Amino acid sequence: MSHSICSFNCVYCQLGDIQVKTAERKIYVPTEKVERDLRLSDWETADLVTILGNGEPTLALNLGEVLQVIREYTAKPSTVLTNATLLNDPAVRADLNYADHVACKLDAASDVVLQRMNRPVAGIDMASIASGRHLTN
Ligand code: SF4
Repeated sequence: MSHSICSFNCVYCQLGDIQVKTAERKIYVPTEKVERDLRLSDWETADLVTILGNGEPTLALNLGEVLQVIREYTAKPSTVLTNATLLNDPAVRADLNYADHVACKLDAASDVVLQRMNRPVAGIDMASIASGRHLTN
């Protein structure tokens, strides 16, 4: 099983304690592998394709490419579930333009709760999250 990778380490995370805590965008899983796994999956029976990653999907530098592959191969709508911590990066917003739906979660309304609930990596706070709230470029 691949490592869990996220810019948060939420107290309730279904993945347990996040193994790689980072806000660095990289290619963690090559697009070819995602495409191969997609072809082997039962995607024809799905109503839509949801991108969660094994953590925060916007950390994937190839997210836009992956979304394009999904669109071209399946012609199904795609949804990305994100913790919204990287939406202040125009490159992330450009990648998300290839998704049909983007679901952003927000657990906290203050830095105190954010730190207690989501335990973000250094540099992420309510102000940085709020600065990416407009999903346009
Ligand atoms: S944002 Fe999601 S994947 Fe990341 S730690 Fe929180 S619950 Fe887990």
